[in-house]
Amino acid sequence: MKNIAVIGAGTMGNGIAHTFAQFGYKVSLIDTSQNNLDRGLATITKNLDRMVAKDKITEAQKKETLDNINTYTDLEKGAEYAGLVVEASTENEKIKLDLFRNLDKICPEDTILATNTSSIPITKIAAVTRRPEQVIGMHFMNPVPIMKLVEVIRGYNTSDETTNTILELSKNLKKTPTEVNDYPGFVANRILMPMINEAIETLYNNVAGVEEIDTVMKLGMAHPMGPLQLADFIGLDVCHSILEVMYEGFKKPKYAPCPLLVNMVRAGKLGVKSGEGFYDYSESRKAEKVSAQFTS
Ligand code: NAD
Repeated sequence: MKNIAVIGAGTMGNGIAHTFAQFGYKVSLIDTSQNNLDRGLATITKNLDRMVAKDKITEAQKKETLDNINTYTDLEKGAEYAGLVVEASTENEKIKLDLFRNLDKICPEDTILATNTSSIPITKIAAVTRRPEQVIGMHFMNPVPIMKLVEVIRGYNTSDETTNTILELSKNLKKTPTEVNDYPGFVANRILMPMINEAIETLYNNVAGVEEIDTVMKLGMAHPMGPLQLADFIGLDVCHSILEVMYEGFKKPKYAPCPLLVNMVRAGKLGVKSGEGFYDYSESRKAEKVSAQFTS
């Protein structure tokens, strides 16, 4: 289990690759284009530089971490020797099902196939493989090198052996794994997303502005970040698709994404990653609220 393939070099994938590499694992980081891989590696380097500056790691440890990462645009070349695959591609069911079908063919028989999905059922992903007992959710939190939690999600057929291996491995990364079962939103998003959606609904109903809503939750409930700012960090498209999966899974109106969230995603206002969400992240207008145009 020393060779780990991480699929997707985006927000989560580069953090997962960074974390495994920092703890001595050999990581194959795989994405569809070299450009995405270069951007992922640049983020890892910047985050390692920050850790060196804060005396959390040495220059030598930074170099060892980077030396442990190789990049691939070819899935087969990147995953063929992996003992564990952690899939962190775009939150899209078709992309993930296609990937798992291919990984099942490419990887050795004993390879564990894990997914970092926020909401797509593990049991559904496992069902496209011939090894459902070796498919599991390994749900890291953003930013991965800092956040301690790994939500370990057992699909219907996930074996005890696979679960125990992933729980142990997470501890080797100095994380705190927590075992949960495979129902829509698992635990983290089942509780978090209705809160974020309600914060957006509160804005949509003109009860208060962006900063006021976030201030109430930060200072009143001791949350380190307000729900609207957190939604910007997660990505509004990601929040939207998680809510859709929960709405579909439970058939309860309380999970229906707020129309304001739907409109913002349609308009390409995805939060930090697009430079604009509930706050403006462009250099000139940092943290300025931009939501007024979307409210009625
Ligand atoms: P992202 O959009 O930042 O990155 C996704 C990456 O996957 C992109 O670089 C894309 O090019 C790549 N990709 C797409 N299809 C691919 C394929 N077939 N093969 C290889 N690479 C492919 O997304 P993200 O925010 O990093 O989310 C990744 C996963 O992690 C999703 O399942 C998401 O639900 C989950 N997640 C996200 C967060 C968060 O805060 N953003 C938190 C926990 C879990």
